[in-house]
Amino acid sequence: MGKIVLTGKGRRWIEGGHPWAFRDDVASVDAEPGDVVAVEGPGAKPLGFGAYSSASRIAVRMVSRGREAPDRAFWAERVGRALAARERAGYLDPAGACRLIGGDADGIPGLVADRYGAVLVLQSGTQSADRMIGLVVELLDEALPFRLAAVVDRSDSAVRKLEALERRVDVLRGSVEGGVLVREGDLEYQVDVLLGHKTGHYLDQRENRRRAASRAPGRAVLDAFSYDGLFGIRAALAGARSVLCVDQSEAALARASANAERNGVAARVRVHRANCMSELRAMAQADERFGLVVVDPPAFARNRREIAGAQRGYVEVNRRALALVEAGGTLVSASCSYNVRPQTFVDYLAAASHEAGRDVYLEELAGAAPDHPALLALPESAYLKCAFLRVEGEPRMRDRRGGSARGIDDDRDRAEREEA
Ligand code: SAH
Repeated sequence: MGKIVLTGKGRRWIEGGHPWAFRDDVASVDAEPGDVVAVEGPGAKPLGFGAYSSASRIAVRMVSRGREAPDRAFWAERVGRALAARERAGYLDPAGACRLIGGDADGIPGLVADRYGAVLVLQSGTQSADRMIGLVVELLDEALPFRLAAVVDRSDSAVRKLEALERRVDVLRGSVEGGVLVREGDLEYQVDVLLGHKTGHYLDQRENRRRAASRAPGRAVLDAFSYDGLFGIRAALAGARSVLCVDQSEAALARASANAERNGVAARVRVHRANCMSELRAMAQADERFGLVVVDPPAFARNRREIAGAQRGYVEVNRRALALVEAGGTLVSASCSYNVRPQTFVDYLAAASHEAGRDVYLEELAGAAPDHPALLALPESAYLKCAFLRVEGEPRMRDRRGGSARGIDDDRDRAEREEA
């Protein structure tokens, strides 16, 4: 087994609880890319075992603080406890969908395993995860209460570049022709596991869509940054008067229309392809109002350098959204940038409420659904914030500022949401 020795600073960081050691904190390496290695501090002090990357700024991701090197039984236990948590959440219904393994937060660094019905979609973002795929599929086959009809390797996310890895999409088992259909309670939706964002769908917003839908009956709903329209369609199923889904992706909106049709709410759901930043402003200028507005933009801060621009982006998009909410209505506002911590996001919302001249009340601040575990030792895993806001008072006179925050009015592809 390979070995990696950390500096004193690296040792203190790992002993402080965070599972990642950075390249600067490494004193010496004797390992191949992607190996699970013994991790030591100065003076051969054993710290446990971790997954080594030869390329990333994150040199080691700890997998165990124990004395025994991880073997097959160790990984079987990791997979077993991840599945047990999903089972307890009620997420293992064979017709449903959920994240079975959430990478580092589930103790399997870099590897995401989502399943849509009986279709498993894997996404590896690290050198070590690439080498774990075969074993994890084997362990899931053994432990899942249903048979996996198809297995897809969707290892095509941009983070692979940081690990000096090529991107790839391979169907490893079965076929996914014609797309995949998921049933979640009274909702049925289509997933494109080969070309859709992430592994095909935003599973993390599942519970937030329910929370939003509970505020929808009788209201006009705007679902901005809608992707395939599931906030809106859930709202329509709950009794929204009308729903408008806005997104820049043609393919996502085509699925939104198909989903609306499939769920019998097409008469109340409209889709519109546009840049949400300019569209929100145009709607405010036209004095349009909604009882429920959802804004779920892609990550504005994908790294620490982008935080300043992200602040402007979040304040701006929420200021524009707040102008569209009728008095007594609800704004549901999400942020998936893990560099923006929950309190910071609330601060941005406060700034937006001030600029919009509205009285805004924070009713709930939720995170991702429980199949996207937030490991306290890894704050990066609590990436999703979703605020439920009651909006009162009349908006300021028409927004003539036309303020354009740099970098957020353009069409740059920021589709990939950020996750640890
Ligand atoms: N609310 C969705 C997830 C949204 S992800 C759900 O619950 O599933 C972010 C979406 O924003 C993506 O669909 C992407 O196509 C879209 N997007 C990114 N920038 C945009 C922009 N400037 N205008 C409109 N849509 C944008």
